[in-house]
Amino acid sequence: MTAPGPIPTADTIRDLIVGHDRARPRSKQRAIGPSNLSSPCSRKLMYQLLDVDPVRPNSVNLAAWVGTQIHAGMEKAAKGNDDWKTETRLSLKIAPGITLVGTADAYHAPSYTLLDYKSCGPSALAKYRRQMPDNYETQVDVYGLMAVLSAAFRVDNVGIVLIPRNGSLDDIHVHVRPWNDARADAAIKRLTHLHAAAAAGTSVLPMIPTAPDCMFCPWHMLGHLGDIAEACPGHQDHGTTPMEVTTQPNERTTSP
Ligand code: SF4
Repeated sequence: MTAPGPIPTADTIRDLIVGHDRARPRSKQRAIGPSNLSSPCSRKLMYQLLDVDPVRPNSVNLAAWVGTQIHAGMEKAAKGNDDWKTETRLSLKIAPGITLVGTADAYHAPSYTLLDYKSCGPSALAKYRRQMPDNYETQVDVYGLMAVLSAAFRVDNVGIVLIPRNGSLDDIHVHVRPWNDARADAAIKRLTHLHAAAAAGTSVLPMIPTAPDCMFCPWHMLGHLGDIAEACPGHQDHGTTPMEVTTQPNERTTSP
């Protein structure tokens, strides 16, 4: 008889999750997508544009991992239902050298509504029911723009579906509104401005404004006093010289 192996520990389970997270496509993806674009921190976007090696490559956001499993479950739940198209890969070249890529969670064809799923805990759910965060709104508007300009879907409405990680079916909240193409245009314009600034290389990083989005930022190194080109100490209210980056709606700057 074979002798029993070691009893699984918390590390065993953690290793399973970390291994799975590292293998999934979104963890490997370095291209800019709507979720990156929705970050309020322009420096974080700039690290990504400049392809700076993350200093926290192994950090796994458990909440995001659980959210990914919810996405997978929702895809299965809608499979075979002609009203729904799920996990649609979108790609849009917005300027020379910049292609936006992303995956639209769900499209409800009868109502021309593009939806983005967000899993959240109880306090976030209560808060977001009252006021949806700007970055979520921007993200879904950018998906709408990508879908329309790439001729994937007609988009009349966009929406955010809040699915509780530890609640009941009654807690699911759907926030739907008309697609705001001006907000999407502003986000695209911000990216094109940052892309132009990126031509200066990593020396530009200290001048790029920051915003609080540090918790899972791959370039966050608490207390870092060295070169910003290598790591960021995190958002502070002082200490940067902001570079002008347009975030307000303006005329359309993208083309199919
Ligand atoms: S650590 Fe914070 S401030 Fe620095 S780039 Fe990341 S999100 Fe921005």
